[in-house]
Amino acid sequence: MSRIDVTIAAAALAATAFVASAQAQQPAQPPYATTKVEGTDNVYIFRYGGHQSMFVVTPAGVIATDPIGERRPAAKAYIEEIQKITKAPIKYVIYSHSHFDHIAGGKPFKDLGATFVAHKNAKARIAALKPADVVVPDEVVDAKKTITLGGTALELNYVGKNHSDSMLVMRLPKEKIIFTVDWIPIQGIQFRGMADTYVPDIEEGLKKVIAMDWDKLIPGHPGPGGRQTGTKDDARNQLAYLQDLSAAVKKAVDDGKSYADAQKDIKLPKYENWPNYGPFLPMNIERYYDYWNRGI
Ligand SMILES: [Zn+2]
Repeated sequence: MSRIDVTIAAAALAATAFVASAQAQQPAQPPYATTKVEGTDNVYIFRYGGHQSMFVVTPAGVIATDPIGERRPAAKAYIEEIQKITKAPIKYVIYSHSHFDHIAGGKPFKDLGATFVAHKNAKARIAALKPADVVVPDEVVDAKKTITLGGTALELNYVGKNHSDSMLVMRLPKEKIIFTVDWIPIQGIQFRGMADTYVPDIEEGLKKVIAMDWDKLIPGHPGPGGRQTGTKDDARNQLAYLQDLSAAVKKAVDDGKSYADAQKDIKLPKYENWPNYGPFLPMNIERYYDYWNRGI
């Protein structure tokens, strides 16, 4: 082993130990599970690891969403879970947005004849990057499209750029449920440095979502304690967090502070109980610092 190899081996060992200790602190949970959304008789959440997606069962077939199968056999499990509930065909797979950790692995659905739908910008990104394990969408959404199947309507709304330029807000008007991924976490700080996130468009998008008629939010990842659904208050809290963060960072930039001083000085105690406040707040600060300091 070269010195570099030894360093890499040590780092890999440390990473393994870290993952093992993180897992040891979690209550044991099966790798995947399906739950029916309370108050409905046709809406389900399929969770695999820390990712989840919504599916809707109708007499004429199933509308599924994100395959969440990046480097793991989630789609096979997802299909088996659906088929335990209904033998009706899986008619659609709808992508929440273009990020591969949510949309990879859909081929088993394609093999069953499902039609894949995504925002037009997601299809353009997939066409440009050609990831081997992402099924190319058959149909695209621009501003809005409604899918009707077996008496159920599912609206696919585009509310502008937020966490990517291809995010759909899927809304079941009758059930008053929305499914939208990664940008409205339940009691969560935005992920790391808010990669691919548009500031301040994300705040405008949140206002549009809050103005829609719905009661229950299904996010792409469970929140604290494994909570799989949220409410409009979670969306309002996320908007308040971003507005508070933005105002605090603007002040730091106006005061001539450096990145490091802004990250050291800004505290948002209202949100300190949210998971990842510690590690991610400095990275969220950096994202807003770039917006206020350099207009990007
Ligand atoms: Zn994402």
